[in-house]
Amino acid sequence: MLLAAPAPAQNEVRPDRVRTELVAPDNSAHAFIHWQLKSRATLERLAKFFSPLRLPRDVLMTVKGCNGEVDAYYEDAVITVCYEYLAYIREQAPAARSEEGLRRRDAVVGPTIDLFLHEMAHAVFDLLKIPLFGREEDAADQFSAYLLLHADREEARALITGTAFLGRVESQEVMSKNTELRYFAREHGHPAQRYFNLLCAAYGFDPVLFADAVSHWNLPPERARGCAQEYAQIDRAFKALIVPHLDPVLWEEVRARKFLRNWPGQPNVRN
Ligand SMILES: [Zn+2]
Repeated sequence: MLLAAPAPAQNEVRPDRVRTELVAPDNSAHAFIHWQLKSRATLERLAKFFSPLRLPRDVLMTVKGCNGEVDAYYEDAVITVCYEYLAYIREQAPAARSEEGLRRRDAVVGPTIDLFLHEMAHAVFDLLKIPLFGREEDAADQFSAYLLLHADREEARALITGTAFLGRVESQEVMSKNTELRYFAREHGHPAQRYFNLLCAAYGFDPVLFADAVSHWNLPPERARGCAQEYAQIDRAFKALIVPHLDPVLWEEVRARKFLRNWPGQPNVRN
């Protein structure tokens, strides 16, 4: 007689807790993005990437239409990324290559992955009750930057510069408006601050690989001097606060397979 395996307890802390849901878009303009995410199994790959996290409950990662809102958010174990945000990322990306030689593919893939990693950081902080000094939004940016930097060398460069590209666009967009004082009351830092924080983490991680953070992306030398220390602080926090919650065998497996490399189904990406 076969005995059924006991069903896992609902609130058991265990890995492989990320579920995915790709809702078909209402807006036909988003059909192509839906098709891409589906055909490349982007959400499934991200779920696999996050599978080492030992969490007390399932996290649902969903992509859906948000009635025109360019948004992404986390609430109560649900990560929602709006098609509108993914479309916005594509609209900002250069048609082929940017003037500095950045590929369209990088300007799309970098910020897209960064978006999911950032939202997953909120889920991790919440569900694991991770203690944080400072703004949670900054900590989520650091969590994401850390993981992007630990893709392999070449991919880390593509992901970081792609994300920086959108950060620069967003910074210019906000700076072109007459920003009122209340803008700075937001939970997020000014896009320009988030942009420089990302560049500083990258430069601190590897000042040779990211030498152009200073020479091209305008990271001021006086900030750059302290970036090795800033990166070391992120590294310490990640190892002390996050790594103990990772299943070591699965984490090794995910890293060996380089899930963030050649993302997703490259090289024939045009959008
Ligand atoms: Zn956030």
